Amino acid sequence: MLENKNQNKTSLAQLGEFGLINHITQNFPVQQKSTLKGIGDDAAVLDFKSKNVVVSTDLLVEGVHFDLSYMPLKHLGYKAVVVNLSDICAMNARPTQITVSIAVSNRFPLEAIEELYEGIRLACNSYKVDLIGGDTTSSTTGLLISVTALGVVKKEEIVYRSGAKENDLLVVTGDIGSAYMGLQVLEREKQVFLVNPNNQPDLEEYSYIIERQLKPEARTDIKELLEKLDVKPTAMIDVSDGISSEILHICKASNTGCNLYEEKLPLDPQFINVCEEFNLDSTTIAINGGEDYELLFTISMNDFEKIKANPHLTVIGHITAENEGTHLITRENTKLPLKARGWNALTE
Ligand SMILES: [Mg+2]
Repeated sequence: MLENKNQNKTSLAQLGEFGLINHITQNFPVQQKSTLKGIGDDAAVLDFKSKNVVVSTDLLVEGVHFDLSYMPLKHLGYKAVVVNLSDICAMNARPTQITVSIAVSNRFPLEAIEELYEGIRLACNSYKVDLIGGDTTSSTTGLLISVTALGVVKKEEIVYRSGAKENDLLVVTGDIGSAYMGLQVLEREKQVFLVNPNNQPDLEEYSYIIERQLKPEARTDIKELLEKLDVKPTAMIDVSDGISSEILHICKASNTGCNLYEEKLPLDPQFINVCEEFNLDSTTIAINGGEDYELLFTISMNDFEKIKANPHLTVIGHITAENEGTHLITRENTKLPLKARGWNALTE
């Protein structure tokens, strides 16, 4: 997991920019009908017929958004794609293409960039999206990676943050909080490694939460699942900063309040165990820890019967009138104001 990054290998200068681009993009076959021209001309050409196109971009900076001492480059490439696909899913759209731009310093040999693009390729393959362009340039310090994702959606299927109505149910996919605790375990092992580099940690008992941090997945399956169940969300967002922050985004955009129930939060047993080990309150982490990349959405109360037995979906609260405010209802039935702390705030 923790490896020596100073092995000197093929320098990027030997290849030149065009040589590098040719080299790293050679294993990306076109998979989408809408991609008329991908890499290889001045611009890509796409044909989305009569569908609406959604676009989302993220910029990741070494030392700010990721730490290469425990984030393998292959995982970084994969995750950089996934977090953008998650935003496309949050619009109830289907991701189709990405562009990837990187800036690298000369401390990275070609083999490191190959690892990064192997992760990008795995994500493209797994989610059937096309890499259709990007840019590579040099950086004086670390690694920067910017991904733009495109997706398509029928006009009548788009879901915004602003559509939640009073009495709608608040639903989340999967479970939450684990990615944050995975990061805590990795940070702790990094400190141990810095003191004793020969001590390779046994992380078996943390496998699920570490995977949630290092290899998150975008919920591209939910659009199809909801269509099968004949449910259209009234509002939707993906969980990148923690659900309390995301719920507040929906409430603000929809001019509503909400009640979130502590006892309803979907938590993995490994997550609960590790919170205890770290002496952290699992509810606080679950609602403020980020990077789960689950989907949070609201549905009409009339649709409850359609979703109630589904193992992927958990009702965690409901939407109220705006003047009732936004609250967390604890197990003891205490009403606490819901605050957007975000996962960064947890470390302060
Ligand atoms: Mg988002």
